[in-house]
Amino acid sequence: MFTLAHRITLTTLLLALASPSLAWFSWFKSSYAETRYPIVLAHGMAGFDNIGPLNYWYGIPGDLKARGGTVYLTQVSSFNSSEVRGEQLLAQVEDILAISGASKVNLIGHSHGSQSVRYVAAVMPGRIASATAVGGPNKGSPVADLVDDVSGLVGDDLTGVVGSIVSGFGSIIGLAAGEKLPQDALAGLYSLTTEGAADFNRRFPAGVPTTACGDGAHRVNGVRYYSWSGTRHLTNALDPIDIPLAATGAAFIGKSDWQNDGLVGRCSSHLGDVIRDDYRMNHLDEVNQVVGLTYLFETDPVVVFRNHANRLKNAGL
Ligand code: CA
Repeated sequence: MFTLAHRITLTTLLLALASPSLAWFSWFKSSYAETRYPIVLAHGMAGFDNIGPLNYWYGIPGDLKARGGTVYLTQVSSFNSSEVRGEQLLAQVEDILAISGASKVNLIGHSHGSQSVRYVAAVMPGRIASATAVGGPNKGSPVADLVDDVSGLVGDDLTGVVGSIVSGFGSIIGLAAGEKLPQDALAGLYSLTTEGAADFNRRFPAGVPTTACGDGAHRVNGVRYYSWSGTRHLTNALDPIDIPLAATGAAFIGKSDWQNDGLVGRCSSHLGDVIRDDYRMNHLDEVNQVVGLTYLFETDPVVVFRNHANRLKNAGL
């Protein structure tokens, strides 16, 4: 039988055992995304200006900050060349370095933001700890090729699959489907064609695989390179953007790099250390869009970012 003294002793012992583990759990939870260097997010080509850079990464910055991460959001032209967008990001990264006092930053770019972070990492590698591409069209996109090819055509001139691909692209980037794309969009679009991407890669090759579908160099000039992407279209019945992404995905039919997220091929997304290239995500699921409507039964895009922050932390970055 336990005496009162025994009970007090036992209770004290249990509390003593519980307290450090609770403290440890709390510490673990709050520092999981606490990287050594701040994380800087760079958005892609899209008509997201109206909702601003915060909501582009739906729920992601808040999640990282809740786990000890320091996150900076950037905003560049929605539609412009990789170089112009890269220069815009460079100026913002210089500001972030000055404001934060950090010696380096970790860059993460989605979609055309991949070229932006690669540009900055190439221009000032000494100040960049890592560059990560999420759904990045590093070797271009057949959707861009097709839209670029037919951009002079409008309305009734576009029929069948080609028309639905162009309309789908228009819907995704926030323009009226079927209308002629504005010239600034076309200028930016060229950067994402196979030809435009190859031209950029000749000048900024760091991390880009030299094989058709392998990893790229994991470290170039001291900068670590990473990437991930998805290969699905219809992932959530409530998300209106899934249908246009399935339409643009038709541009990949017959291509060697045929698996895609609706806009970017699986192999084209590869940069540096390929973390995974077949998540059950479409191009916008990758940034938890639209408003968190993603596939319910597999990896949450927010968790993928969270785990990457932890990966950077564990790498001392
Ligand atoms: Ca979605």
